[in-house]
Parts: sequence; structure tokens; C-alpha cells
Amino acid sequence: MKMQINGKAVESYSGEFFDIINPATGELIDQVPKGTEYDVEIAVEAASSAFNCWASTSPQQRARILYTAAGVVRQRKDELAILLTREQGKPFAESKNEIEGFANVLEYYCGLVSSFHGDFIPVPQNGYSFTIKKPLGVCAAIIPWNMPALIMAWKISPALIAGNTLVLKPASNTPLTNLTLASILSEAGLPPGVINIVTGPGEVVGESLVKNPQVKKISFTGEARTGKRVAELAAGGMKRVTLELGGSDPMIVCDDANLETAVSGALRGRFYNCGQTCTAVKRLFVFESVAEEFIKKLEASIRNLRVGNGLHENIDMGPLNNCRQREYIKELVADVEEKDEGRIVAGGRVPEGSAYSRGYFFEPTLVVDVQRESRLLKEEVFGPVLPVVQVKNLEEAIEEANNTCYGLGASIWTKNIDRVRTGCEQLNAGIIWINQHLKVAPEVPFGGAGESGIGKENGPDALSEYLDLKALMLKI
Ligand code: NAP
Repeated sequence: MKMQINGKAVESYSGEFFDIINPATGELIDQVPKGTEYDVEIAVEAASSAFNCWASTSPQQRARILYTAAGVVRQRKDELAILLTREQGKPFAESKNEIEGFANVLEYYCGLVSSFHGDFIPVPQNGYSFTIKKPLGVCAAIIPWNMPALIMAWKISPALIAGNTLVLKPASNTPLTNLTLASILSEAGLPPGVINIVTGPGEVVGESLVKNPQVKKISFTGEARTGKRVAELAAGGMKRVTLELGGSDPMIVCDDANLETAVSGALRGRFYNCGQTCTAVKRLFVFESVAEEFIKKLEASIRNLRVGNGLHENIDMGPLNNCRQREYIKELVADVEEKDEGRIVAGGRVPEGSAYSRGYFFEPTLVVDVQRESRLLKEEVFGPVLPVVQVKNLEEAIEEANNTCYGLGASIWTKNIDRVRTGCEQLNAGIIWINQHLKVAPEVPFGGAGESGIGKENGPDALSEYLDLKALMLKI
């Protein structure tokens, strides 16, 4: 597949390509161009040339185009989901969910099309004041590999509805769904240059996008370490940034929780997308009084998870997306064993058998009695390993839960309204779930505190991230 610049499928000026590998089979799926700084310049130029025309297109017309594209995405849902599973690894049902999520987000922002306007503000001494909202210009979107379609929607929908143009850099492991979605947008009527996609290494394509003086805003999703680099580069041009970074979400199971529901929540919260979700349950704190029963049920459920190629029937969990990610997870588990910092009661190994021999599989893993100093509690565990820690009460659980540099999501499982209130007030997180974990919706603001990032995606607030607010003061 080729890059997309100014409405055309193009190769890179480097003339080079890189491989896209199926993480379940190790097979080559496709090759995409290895973009360069020069390709980024051309793409930004195209987005810049398209800006005035797109910004002056009526918001209703912009919405009509995006709405048409969402309809096509729904019609082609199965085909897109197969492509997503082939490049990313997640089970087909999860891919379908993600593709539907793409269409939902696009349609949600189409619905907000009449809502972003300025205000009239009366001021003392016969003055009048107005505010107007204008698009920013060329925006950059940098996407990770864990949820490439959904995160593309989170960025492009508010940006385009607000009248901005875009250059998007997909993750190097998962560019194919992003490229296909962009061509659907073009076929739905998006004028050339309004969305451009440059594939290639983050250090080259990502950095030159962030540094380009014509780029006014960067929306980045990825690791905290990369986010800091992006923020550093963006500061040089005093650019606006939205940074959606890592998380180490705690799940707190109180003694009055419905344990069956909590087990299902932990299962989905941790092992959905093979544990590679920013808001996955990465640390589980359970009250001592119910720990034994809860862990027994959880262990049984984890052992029942069916691991395999996401395109095969009845698969609950696919492979990790890439070799580096699996090596990291193996290293973390080996570290726990070596230092005796926890007890592995389920999984912990690469599964055996020919079905697993060429993919990046790892067993769904449960580690209990995890020691406070373990890397499992200190680092972002981006894979299918669930560490469980026993706590005496809610106070201790919240203290442990907040003992991280991240603040993305958190959940509390209880029937007690006082505990709910305490959790909501004291947990340091951008999103707090009660008796559930992981759910997101286009209407609800999403974004973290601390090293989980800056700014929000989803909801009406995300539109403000792509609009410039100007004040006018009149004396008549
Ligand atoms: P990553 O390594 O930081 O990469 C993210 C994107 O940045 C990729 O497109 C990557 O390109 C690019 N990139 C790499 N180095 C860059 C640089 N120096 N300048 C500009 N761009 C650069 O993250 P990942 O491993 O793909 O994604 C997993 C991480 O994302 C996890 O930490 C997860 O928690 C986080 N995440 C957060 C959210 C949220 O909303 N908070 C959502 C999903 C994921 P290449 O692919 O070419 O390296």
C-alpha cells in the first residue's frame, strides 16, 4: 500500500519500503513506503494549500462528507476488521468493535457541527464583546499501534469538523487500516490535501512533522517517553499539543463487590487486545477478606481463555503486536520469578504447539502476592500479565493505587456509595469507572493526569483543542 498525499497514492522519495508483518503468523502482509523528511514537507505543503478552502467550506458540508465516510466504513466493516486483525493481531470481534468505534466517533462529531460558535459577552460602559472560533490550520496526528482505527477517529474527527487539515503518521506496525480509512474519506468527498498520510519511522517522519513550522498543533498518542520528546520539540515552535500517553490503571475490588462481575471485569479489563490497551487493568488491588475466593475464580476464568490467531473462530486473545513487546513481557515475568517478587498461578510462558510457533503469543498470566517493589507495579505492563496485590481496606488501596507517575484510568468495585464517593474524589485519574473498567464513549472526555498526558480527546471539549478563540471588543 502507498502513502496518501494530496489525494494521491504515492511512494516515498526514498524509494524504500518496509514490511508489515502479521503478528499471529509472522507472514509478510504488505509493504509501505519508508517516508522521509522531504515526504513530510510535501504532505504539510498539501495540507497547507488545502486549508483555506476547507476552512471556508460550511461546517454542514464538512459534516456531510464525514457522515458519508462513516456510512461506507460501516458497510465495509468486516473487510476493514480483517485487515486490522491481520496487521494488529486482536481477535476479529474486537477489530469489528474498533471499526464501529471509528464510525461512531466520526458521526458523533458530525452531530456537533452547529455547536461550536463564539459568544456575545456584555461588558460595562456600553461595550460589546464577542468571541469567534477559528480552525488552527495544519494539524499533525501521530498514532500508536494498539488501537490504530479508534485513535485515528479520536484525532481526525474533531480536527476536520473544526475546519483544520491534517497530516497523519500511523504507527510503523499498523499503517494499513489507517491508509484504507483515509482512502474511504477521500472517496466520500474529502478534497485533496485535507488529510494526508505519511508512513515511516517515528524518529524521522514523526519528528519532522512535529518540527515543521507550518504545523500548528500536534495530537500524539503513544508512550510517555515519546510524548516527552514530542512536547520538547513542539515547545520550540510554541505549538499546541494534546498528549495521550501511557497508564498503569488500578482496579480496586472491595469486600462488598459482586465477585462474579468483578472477575469478568478484570478479565476484559486486562486481556482485551492482549493487554495492550492504555486503560487496561494493570494493577489489581483486592481486599484481603475476599482475596482467596476472588483469586480462585479469576484463575479459573483465565485458564479458560482461548489464545490464537484472531481470524480463527472462538478466540478470546490474540498475540502481542510485535516481537519487542513480547520480549519485554517475557523479561518482566522472568524478573518476578528471579527475584521471587510474586507467585505465578496461571500462564507465564509462551504457549507451546505449532499454532503458536511463528506468532508473538504469550499466555494470559496471573501473578499474585506481588511485592511492592516489583517492576510489575512500577512500569506500564503493556501485555497479558495481571499482578494482584492484597490490601486491608479502601484507604490502603487508594494509597497504593495512586503510587504511580500515571493517572489515566481507575476503577472501584463496590455497592457502597460512600466508597464510590471516596474513590471518585481521591483516585488520581482522568477517568474513573464504578463496577466496570475500560468503557469509552465518543461523548465522554478521555485523557489522563500526571505522565498520562495533557488535554482531552472525545466529547465537546476535544473540539476546543482544534479551535482558536478570538475576542473582539467594540465601543459604539
Ligand atoms: P510509541 O512507541 O510512543 O509510538 C507512538 C507513535 O509515535 C508511533 O507512530 C511512532 O512511530 C511515533 N514515534 C516514535 N518515536 C517518535 C518521535 N521521536 N517523534 C515523533 N513520533 C514518534 O507508542 P506505541 O508503542 O506505538 O504505543 C503504546 C503506548 O501508547 C502505550 O504506552 C499506551 O499506553 C499508549 N497509549 C495511550 C493512549 C491514550 O489515549 N492515553 C491510547 C493508546 C495507547 P513508529 O511506530 O514508527 O515508531
